[in-house]
Amino acid sequence: MKLPDRNLLPDGEWVPALSGETFTTTNPATETPSGTLAKAGEADVDRAAKAARKAFDEGPWPKMAPAERARILWRAAQKMRERAEDLAKCEALDMGKPVSEGKAIDVPFTADLFEYYAGWATKVHGETLPGIPGFFVHTLREPVGVVGMITPWNFPMLLLSWKLAPALAVGCTCVVKPASLTPHSALLLAEILVEAGVPKGAINVVTGPGGAVGNALVRHPAVDKIAFTGETRTGQGILREAAATMKRVTMELGGKSPNIVFADADLDAATKGAIAGVFYNKGEVCAAGSRILVEEKVVNDFVEMLKARAGKMSHGDPLDPKTRLGPQASKAQLDTVLKYVARGREDGARLVCGGRHVPINGKGYFVEPTIFDRVTNGMTIAREEIFGPVASVIPFKDEAEALRIANDSEFGLASGVWTRDVGRAHRMARGLKAGTVWVNTYNVYDPAAPFGGCKRSGFGRELGSAALEHYTEMKSVIQSLQ
Ligand code: NDP
Repeated sequence: MKLPDRNLLPDGEWVPALSGETFTTTNPATETPSGTLAKAGEADVDRAAKAARKAFDEGPWPKMAPAERARILWRAAQKMRERAEDLAKCEALDMGKPVSEGKAIDVPFTADLFEYYAGWATKVHGETLPGIPGFFVHTLREPVGVVGMITPWNFPMLLLSWKLAPALAVGCTCVVKPASLTPHSALLLAEILVEAGVPKGAINVVTGPGGAVGNALVRHPAVDKIAFTGETRTGQGILREAAATMKRVTMELGGKSPNIVFADADLDAATKGAIAGVFYNKGEVCAAGSRILVEEKVVNDFVEMLKARAGKMSHGDPLDPKTRLGPQASKAQLDTVLKYVARGREDGARLVCGGRHVPINGKGYFVEPTIFDRVTNGMTIAREEIFGPVASVIPFKDEAEALRIANDSEFGLASGVWTRDVGRAHRMARGLKAGTVWVNTYNVYDPAAPFGGCKRSGFGRELGSAALEHYTEMKSVIQSLQ
């Protein structure tokens, strides 16, 4: 099965790349082509960025009544729900996400986000300040301008919508650069937004290689802000490039998140939470709870419980509605995961289960859910982001040691705590250096709850009202009353 051939969207027109070049994507379950797309270059980025600039400076979108913008976003959300099957198929064929999961989680959450930010469109405003005598002082909150959005392949539609929905709600115009592995859902989202009434030039999409297309977007003088999600190393390069034009940037980067299980926790619930925390989306989750810290006195029992549950997870064709675990998104990702499995064994961790490439009829980048125990926090598998279904179980003695190990990471994206002790839950929530702390749950997202990282996991927040700050700028107006 193939997705329809796709062109670029600069300035409201679906057009081939100026060079006429194309590229193909690969279905990771079958290793066959999943689609053919226009391959943009620098000139295409220039065309899209200028269109977005013109749409911001002269077009109707930023000046439109906020209630009208809200209605368009709301309409788009309805259309997303109607096209759930098509959107879910884009993710299934591009990156191996089971279509059932896309329909049950990714599409509804994407639509929820557009509805959530549609609500905000009419509620973003400045303030009247007490002011100095003889003056009327107030602030205006204005859209930041043209936003370049560069997104990764692990949640192609969702992570784009985390940027698109707030940016469009406040009146920004956008140039989207999706990951080359997974561009289809971004194009379909753009099509839906245009159908719902987003005007020409307010949303533009360029597909093509990050080094050329992404980089050209970061350097383009017509772009005011870059919203990036991806690897820490790519983010560092973008930060350097963005300095030249003094762009605003937000960075959602990698993670190596601790999921901490105390002996007093409901261990059945914690097992379920730990398994979902690390194996959800085949472990290709920035917030994956890939370091499972377990209190020493229950660690052996807990590892057995994890093993039993992991053993029940079977992989299969992402298009089959019964499949719960798909393939890794690419051959490169498969190789990375297997390399880390080998490294874990070399470093002396014990392979409890999994660790093998398990193709179906000789095809597909499927990996068994993998658990290591006897891991120390200094091992490579505990320090580096694997981005695959590999869990490292690390024992700890007490609360202080749990906190020390958890925070001993260059990342600070997310964390989990499992305990029945309310005081301890609060102490841990305060002590953990991470943008999100889940207590007695994991991987739960709320459109209203800000998400982002500290340390090398990046800066800035997506979701919630916090995201709006990054797509708006404050202007002070100081007026004499004389
Ligand atoms: P990459 O950093 O490789 O790519 C992300 C995006 O950047 C892609 O669109 C890519 O294009 C583009 N890109 C690549 N090189 C450049 C460049 N020089 N200039 C501008 N853009 C460029 O990340 P992955 O796609 O591999 O995504 C996985 C990473 O994303 C993981 O580290 C993960 O933790 C992180 N992530 C973070 C999240 C968070 O919220 N904190 C959420 C999800 C993922 P192309 O695809 O064409 O190479």
